[in-house]
Amino acid sequence: MSEKKLKFNSKTIHGGQKPDAAYGAVMPPIYQTSTYVQTTPGGHKGYAYSRSANPTRTALEKALASIENGNYGLAFASGMAAIDAVIKLLNPGDEVLSTKDLYGGSYRLFKQVFERFGITFRFIGMQNADSIESHITAKTKLIWVETPTNPMMNVLDIKAISQLAKKHSVLLAVDNTFATPYLQLPLDLGAHIVMHSATKYLGGHSDVVVGALVVNDKDLADKLYFIQNAGGAVCGPMDSFLTLRGIKTLHVRMQRHCENGKAIAEYLVKHPKIEKVYWPGFEDHPNHDIAKSQMKDFGGMISFIPKGSSYEDAIKIVEKLQIFTLAESLGGVESLAGHPASMTHGSIPKEERERSGVVDALIRLSVGIEDEADLIADLEQAMR
Ligand SMILES: *Cc1c(COP(=O)(O)O)cnc(C)c1O
Repeated sequence: MSEKKLKFNSKTIHGGQKPDAAYGAVMPPIYQTSTYVQTTPGGHKGYAYSRSANPTRTALEKALASIENGNYGLAFASGMAAIDAVIKLLNPGDEVLSTKDLYGGSYRLFKQVFERFGITFRFIGMQNADSIESHITAKTKLIWVETPTNPMMNVLDIKAISQLAKKHSVLLAVDNTFATPYLQLPLDLGAHIVMHSATKYLGGHSDVVVGALVVNDKDLADKLYFIQNAGGAVCGPMDSFLTLRGIKTLHVRMQRHCENGKAIAEYLVKHPKIEKVYWPGFEDHPNHDIAKSQMKDFGGMISFIPKGSSYEDAIKIVEKLQIFTLAESLGGVESLAGHPASMTHGSIPKEERERSGVVDALIRLSVGIEDEADLIADLEQAMR
């Protein structure tokens, strides 16, 4: 059976995977080596030096390409290293359009590192795809989006944005960390590049920091591979192995993340002490229709504002949680809670942060796969 025809729930397990050539190991061995024997200069079996390629990383890169319905996968030392490689496709004078409530680390890399090299970044609202076109100039070379966005859970119309990008010959990159390919496939919707912090749902067990890019176009893949090999921020063999192991259960984990996410969003929205809940599964979510058409389900990421809360009150609530762990990151089997204003989004100036809705009292949950009743009881006691 052709691999491209496999259903997603089979691709997570079999996509791009073959038993190891040496001894038939079903799981890819951890090739913990920097170099490979050559019988004559250049006479090797496809691997010469592990910055350029490593068999465990190759296994992960093939799995990544398969689950995102793409042709080429690249695995990096972190999500940020993957983003860094994409921006290095550009030249001084080029311009990038991105969204207002972007992951804080991406914002920091764009503004504080790449602007020094003469690339400019503009952050605009993209919920209404029609409003984007007027911002595209002759200098615009890349549109960088996240959907759902972090932490406001805005949903952007990938297909509509990709049509604009194609019309103006601009690359579209989608950070698919929050949704994962279980929920949405940006390449199928017309994006050129899909990016992951595989640290989150793909790895799924909070035990690695890994990044990924997947593309369809050979020329684009070659350029990104050149940058990856030149810069060297590659994913190591042990982390490649752990991420592959995580991907094998992505579909079952995501199913439970979505079920628990729905239960908690519905609990919170009815709670008398809650002012506002952000979750794309609500029918009155401003982008609910797009979410419904481009995503398979609504995920386990939820943000909320307790009634009349201040910065200090929000911190008190997250400190009182016992099953939800107060920590950066998301997407692991365990539930996490965060306070964006002081944690993930602390590097964004307060005014800019608040303009996109990240107020002082906002709390973000990454709902794990524990028992839903325990998670709800934990939120109840913390809010009391
Ligand atoms: C965590 C995260 C990143 C950065 O990835 P790292 O693996 O931490 O380098 C980028 N985008 C989003 C949406 C993230 O959540």
